[in-house]
Amino acid sequence: MRSSHPYVSLDFEKKGCSVCRIARIRAENWVWHILYECTGDPEVRDRFDRSLGLCGPHAHLMLRVAKRHPSVGIGGVARMYESVLAPVQFEVEAHGRTGSSTELWKGMGAWFRHHPTPPSCMLCTESIDTARGQLYFLLQALREEPDAWKLAFEHSDGLCVPHIKLALNDTQVYADPSLRAYLVSDQRRRMNRLAENLAGFLHKQSYNAYEPIAPGEAAATEEAIWRLNGMEFPELLWREEPYLHVAHPSQQGRPQ
Ligand SMILES: [Zn+2]
Ligand SMILES: [Zn+2]
Repeated sequence: MRSSHPYVSLDFEKKGCSVCRIARIRAENWVWHILYECTGDPEVRDRFDRSLGLCGPHAHLMLRVAKRHPSVGIGGVARMYESVLAPVQFEVEAHGRTGSSTELWKGMGAWFRHHPTPPSCMLCTESIDTARGQLYFLLQALREEPDAWKLAFEHSDGLCVPHIKLALNDTQVYADPSLRAYLVSDQRRRMNRLAENLAGFLHKQSYNAYEPIAPGEAAATEEAIWRLNGMEFPELLWREEPYLHVAHPSQQGRPQ
């Protein structure tokens, strides 16, 4: 069932946590946007440099998006990462310096004075903001149109544990005990079913078990991983909108 709330972009028909999915789609779109028109933006570059680039998973995602979309290409990634290399090299050199630990810490102290604790990865921050925003509107929809939205939500795969925790911290949940009870009960039902399916799968692995493995049991191991940790998507999800090639003036005359 598709959502009809104007601000909820969750696709309940797709497998797994729909908040993870929209966060990933927006992350790919965000990377494309940064590479398309912000590689020279001083504010973006400053933030990027201070966090020493992106975290590992998001850095790899950036590279994959750049390779997939010819409108950006990997030149933008090279530009972004060029300025991150020097401070990282300095840090490695400081670690490799011989001599007394006092001298080493003096060197490191000087480095940290100029580079205080790096902020978290920009894309991690964006992804949490996306999730928080979508959960806010989902909770709003569940409160305003409970019949339709509860039905749609219950027929979906629900939320991963990191995202149900985020939902339970929303101000609407603090203000509405019945909404909290509903979310906890929905998650409990899903987790209990998962535990039963995992136990059933393990039982049927035994040499003397002859019953066929049910579909839910076959999928339980994979579900345990995404349910506890969030979804991982092997394929890219965001598709570049063709109109962007036509509408953006800087794109005109650019070889395709
Ligand atoms: Zn999730
Ligand atoms: Zn990240």
